[in-house]
Amino acid sequence: MSDSSVPAAPPPATRSSSWAAILGAGPAGLMAAEALAAQGCRAVVFDRMPSVARKFLMAGRGGLNLTHSEPLPAFLGRYGVAEPVLAPAIRAFPPEAMIAWCEALGQPVFTGSSGRVFPRAMKASPLLRAWLARLAASGVEIRPRHDWQGFGDDGALRFASPAGQVLERPGTVVLALGGASWPRLGADGGWAALLPGARLSPFRPANCGFRIAWSPLFRDRHAGTPLKRIALEFGGRIVPGEAMVTRDGLEGGAVYALSAPLRDAIDRDGEAVLRLDLRPDLSDQEITRRLDQPRRGQSLSGFLRKALGLPPVAIGLVQEALHGGATQAELPSLVKTMPLRLSAPQGLDRAISTAGGLELDQLGPDFMFRNHPGLFACGEMLDWEAPTGGYLLQACFATGRAAGLAAAAWLRQQPAQQPG
Ligand SMILES: Cc1cc2nc3c(=O)[nH]c(=O)nc-3n(C[C@H](O)[C@H](O)[C@H](O)COP(=O)(O)OP(=O)(O)OC[C@H]3O[C@@H](n4cnc5c(N)ncnc54)[C@H](O)[C@@H]3O)c2cc1C
Repeated sequence: MSDSSVPAAPPPATRSSSWAAILGAGPAGLMAAEALAAQGCRAVVFDRMPSVARKFLMAGRGGLNLTHSEPLPAFLGRYGVAEPVLAPAIRAFPPEAMIAWCEALGQPVFTGSSGRVFPRAMKASPLLRAWLARLAASGVEIRPRHDWQGFGDDGALRFASPAGQVLERPGTVVLALGGASWPRLGADGGWAALLPGARLSPFRPANCGFRIAWSPLFRDRHAGTPLKRIALEFGGRIVPGEAMVTRDGLEGGAVYALSAPLRDAIDRDGEAVLRLDLRPDLSDQEITRRLDQPRRGQSLSGFLRKALGLPPVAIGLVQEALHGGATQAELPSLVKTMPLRLSAPQGLDRAISTAGGLELDQLGPDFMFRNHPGLFACGEMLDWEAPTGGYLLQACFATGRAAGLAAAAWLRQQPAQQPG
């Protein structure tokens, strides 16, 4: 673990009197503030929302998948091309450190059969409450309703607050402003316009659902119905799990797991064909054997229900394919490899996370902008993506901590100033 790598706080006499501003009170920003405070620095967190960490609380509605228990090399591989940049921060704050952090806040964890790690409470609010109390005890100040609006001419931070415009001149700034998904929770990617010199990859939805042109009949009957114990296949990768039929497509865990290659294929080819296996537990031969049995006057839906145990939503999908031109001779392949034509990702509004953001090569290994000493960035606003499974929060915590520690080290190197 990691904490052995944290430099000891300097003795009070040598501490800089300057302070650190952290913009954004999500998990990355709060972690940066915690690291700064642990180094003896004054840390003030600003957020535009009336209360902090709303996306973290929303993640708690799904049980708060904090991290994953798979071996670290496989874990790091989940970050794809961003692995070399994120790996040092995650090695310094690995999944075991995340678990220890959570348990130290009075929230024991458990590991599910999938290897995903959750707090036993399966929600974020008790953890967040304990964390905010510990942050307050360590001197971290949180200023909600402060909407950062950019830098003033002299480099001051400009905020709109209930008291009007506020200017702040901290000794260092950690940007932790989040991605652009679920904008109503606070992070809307609007910061991109406030960093005109920065290089950005376009925001794109990640871990998202996709649009499918269902027939009105299917949509009205089955929107909101889960498809359970199915498997999805794309590009040779098979993901067992669940999906949810929506009015305009499909979303849910198994879809999210394939969402990056699906999204990229749609960008490239205009559409992507996802294959759905409605009975992954039965072989092709077994499906064919069961479908070869005499129907004895049963309707198609009655026959599919009895022969294969398909629920109404799965039968609805088979009928949808038949209405679309498939023949009854193709029934076995419709059950095992039904093609679903995806025309577009669902928007950022409903995506779990954001791909794109601040290009990583403009930051040094300590997450400081190479061309802007004293300015750091962390969390989902950076250009990386990962599947669901706890990888998102782990990277936000790890990069927040790394940026906070580096900001503390940077502050200490600055000539002593009058308290700001
Ligand atoms: C429905 C849902 C479920 C999820 N479940 C999981 C999960 O189980 N496991 C997992 O690993 N991840 C999950 N995630 C993703 C995870 O919550 C995010 O990756 C994480 O919260 C990002 O952290 P962050 O600190 O970088 O940004 P955020 O949490 O988005 O925080 C950014 C903060 O910056 C503030 N801000 C933005 N612009 C300004 C401005 N101009 N001025 C002032 N403040 C500003 C925002 O108000 C916000 O509070 C989920 C996400 C969603 C939407």
